[in-house]
Amino acid sequence: MDTILVVNAGSSSLKFEVFAIEGGLRKLLRGQMDGIDTTPRLRIKGSDGKVLADQGYLPADVPDLPSAMRIVGAWLRERHEGRLVAVGHRVVHGGPDYDQPVRINAEVLSDLERYVPLAPLHQPNNLAPIQAVLDRRPDLPQVACFDTSFHRGHSLVTNHYAIPEHFFAEGVRRYGFHGLSYQYVSGRLCEIAPEIANGRVIVAHLGSGASLCAISQGRSIESTLGFTALDGLPMGTRCGQIDPGVILYLLEQRGMTPHEVQDLLYKQSGLKGLSGVSNDVRDLLAASDPRAAFALDHFVHRIGLHAGALAAALGGLDAFVFTAGIGENSPAMRARIAARLEWLGTRLDAKRNARGELLISTPDSKTRLYVVSTDEELMIARHTLKLIGG
Ligand code: AMP
Repeated sequence: MDTILVVNAGSSSLKFEVFAIEGGLRKLLRGQMDGIDTTPRLRIKGSDGKVLADQGYLPADVPDLPSAMRIVGAWLRERHEGRLVAVGHRVVHGGPDYDQPVRINAEVLSDLERYVPLAPLHQPNNLAPIQAVLDRRPDLPQVACFDTSFHRGHSLVTNHYAIPEHFFAEGVRRYGFHGLSYQYVSGRLCEIAPEIANGRVIVAHLGSGASLCAISQGRSIESTLGFTALDGLPMGTRCGQIDPGVILYLLEQRGMTPHEVQDLLYKQSGLKGLSGVSNDVRDLLAASDPRAAFALDHFVHRIGLHAGALAAALGGLDAFVFTAGIGENSPAMRARIAARLEWLGTRLDAKRNARGELLISTPDSKTRLYVVSTDEELMIARHTLKLIGG
């Protein structure tokens, strides 16, 4: 059995899934090495939910992503019966040029390293496992799939900031992210309701990272995310759209260092910063602290505002689609957001919403509401299979 390994590497964790190539793609297992360099733990589950591994390691044994990758590789060689034929990687930034996934070689890798300054917190983590595989198995085909690619068809007007042109040329432009999720959901919508998928759709990726994407005839035309994954909606710990003057104030008047500002905006803001309680919507919904309710009010308010902007970009709206952790699992949040969209012609069916059905709007709703589970890993596996000629 030939298999594809999909790798999604973050700052302190390495997530992975293995797919069998059998005509199509079948998910075999998923796993995660958490707590790299602090409290490393490898957990692996089969597609039936059976625990295949649950093992702790000493921090010294897993100090970084390459070592995590080696341990995962060793586990797969020992315990997994399939023959690994390719590895697909999630890479956050494909810069201005990569509008498609790409087969990796040394040249591509050094190209992708050029984008580290554009995504300093994510890109190095995404590239480290690629190098680790290259070092050990240079013969194994590897594919990079980018969070930015799906948005590369945006118009120049959309892509620009109103700052002098030479900054655009050096890469300071609106890229947009969560593209693998949007591409997957857009593809699912084609299967579910092709007439809608070919119309004007907003997909709301609402997870620990959150953004909206305006999709017209299956193509992204606008996104709430821009140069970095900080823009647009407030997220679990990220601030979302903020007046750049606030940053100047923090630097000049408060004397904060760039590193402190970065930490504030990426890790201490969003739902966590506003509530002072948690970055997790489940905790906030359950909390009695009024700041938790306030943070959720703010989140819903900002989603409504940005949905209005994206509907304007689309010139109307045929469907609004919820996806990712919050979008897929929280009827309460969907109901609150849907209430903000009523002026765009949506009417929520409360029962369908409570049951988490695919279509959650009423039959007479002018604009439809859907819940579609995203699957970025499957999207990466599909791209990888295609690029290795499967
Ligand atoms: P993701 O990044 O897509 O895995 O989403 C993670 C986020 O989804 C978590 O931080 C939670 O806030 C949210 N989430 C997951 N399940 C639920 C739920 N049942 N109700 C509300 N929020 C949820």
